[in-house]
Amino acid sequence: MEILEKNDTNLRIIVRDADVPLMNALRRLALAEVPCMAIEEVVMIENSSILQDEIIAHRLGLTPLKTDLDAYNLPEECECQSEFGCPSCRVTLTLDAEAKEGTRTVYSGEIISENPEIIPVSDKIPIIKLAKSQKLKLEAYASLGRGKTHAKWQPVSMCAYKYYPKITTPTEKCPECQKCVDICPKKVYSIKDEKVDVRDLLACNLCMDCIEACPQKPSKLKVEWEKNAFVMNIESTGALPPERVLVESTKLLDKQLKEFEEQVKAEPQ
Ligand SMILES: [Zn+2]
Repeated sequence: MEILEKNDTNLRIIVRDADVPLMNALRRLALAEVPCMAIEEVVMIENSSILQDEIIAHRLGLTPLKTDLDAYNLPEECECQSEFGCPSCRVTLTLDAEAKEGTRTVYSGEIISENPEIIPVSDKIPIIKLAKSQKLKLEAYASLGRGKTHAKWQPVSMCAYKYYPKITTPTEKCPECQKCVDICPKKVYSIKDEKVDVRDLLACNLCMDCIEACPQKPSKLKVEWEKNAFVMNIESTGALPPERVLVESTKLLDKQLKEFEEQVKAEPQ
């Protein structure tokens, strides 16, 4: 593996010696199985705004929360087995907002959490607009969950991979058409010493527009992909660091394969 880009929310890596089933399994696990925190239940104490309780609850649910995977259990795996949850599987958050002076927007930063580690990823997410003297007071309960149950529990906003591109440019000078350079939507090519040159190989998404645009048939330009190498991009919602999402995906894959093995063994002959 080679890291191309890494920051708080984005991870771009090259993975070699892998195959499509593995890459796709990791992608699907990141989207549907890696847990993260989201608000699941809301108790409205007062709502004199124009939005219905359900819409506010929905907006709160979709507000990404910073997640501490090591400190909390999934409700279905928690020892308490209680419908109400316990401190190991539930976080209580409160919101008490009022528009005293005039119309104002209530932002996610006003949500107060009992655990300072489990707070909205950004404090600038608008929850609701209140007109003068309108009030919103509520208690919300967040828990871990999985993306396959509801998209609010998806720790990634994007998780995708593509084949590692392999481009062979013509060795001799082309007739001066530059059509491949101009048509490429990702600006992969440039002209260097009157020859087509690859400027940014990894930008190529194998659309083959350059081959089609080439007046020479067959084209001297060759676009292929490496069979066992991939470029993977993981963009986190901010709930978990993107590298943690990938690590959790591999752990889950390992766990699922072991379970599968156990079940195969348990089948009577
Ligand atoms: Zn519990």
